[in-house]
Amino acid sequence: MVSHLYTDKYPTLTLMGSPGCGKGTQSKYMQERLGFLHISTGDLIRSAIEREEKEALEFKDLMKEGKLVPDAFIHRLLNKHLDKIRQKDAQPHGLILDGYPRNTQQAQQMKHLVDENNLSFLGMIYIYVPDDVVFERMLNRTDDNGNQRSDDQEQTIRERIRIFHEKTFPLIDFYRKEYQVAQIDGLGSPEDVFNRITPVVQEWHIPSTQKAESA
Ligand code: ADP
Repeated sequence: MVSHLYTDKYPTLTLMGSPGCGKGTQSKYMQERLGFLHISTGDLIRSAIEREEKEALEFKDLMKEGKLVPDAFIHRLLNKHLDKIRQKDAQPHGLILDGYPRNTQQAQQMKHLVDENNLSFLGMIYIYVPDDVVFERMLNRTDDNGNQRSDDQEQTIRERIRIFHEKTFPLIDFYRKEYQVAQIDGLGSPEDVFNRITPVVQEWHIPSTQKAESA
């Protein structure tokens, strides 16, 4: 692990793909095995709802319908969470943004988020899984306690996939212009997918000075 080389700038990448493509699972693997810290905007919203925060409760229905919640709310949650991470003693080797950004406005705003929080943005990993496969996955998945997520209902799944194509997918081109984008085949076992992601992360995570030395 090479975190000390970055002083206080966290190398940060975003994991994107349609709902059910495996972003959460891969982020968990990257956290456990590569020392990244997983930040899921979906999880941040669900926790805020569980804590019954007033603003979050207002957006509970939007989430249930598979719609995006307002950008300003997402940014408040993210900034608060990043502040908390900095205050902790144990510092991560890098950050994975799972499920963020999801539209052009968030992608624009992410530049400020990166600057204000002293992050070093590496690029986007896009996990590709065909719609019919993610649809089946989400209909059939349950959490560790055997519970289905409230937004994993047929109509909501269709809406989430529709929104992904309309608002999130176009970000790939946006990112290609300025950053690195890697497309990963998301079919197969979670281990298979992780084995495809790891070399990309290792390549991006090494600072250019180190690459030059080891070349
Ligand atoms: P999935 O990727 O399977 O949709 P998430 O947990 O990432 O699962 O997101 C669940 C829901 O949370 C989304 O459908 C949306 O309502 C809300 N959400 C998560 N991230 C964002 C975001 N960056 N912007 C707006 N809404 C979000």
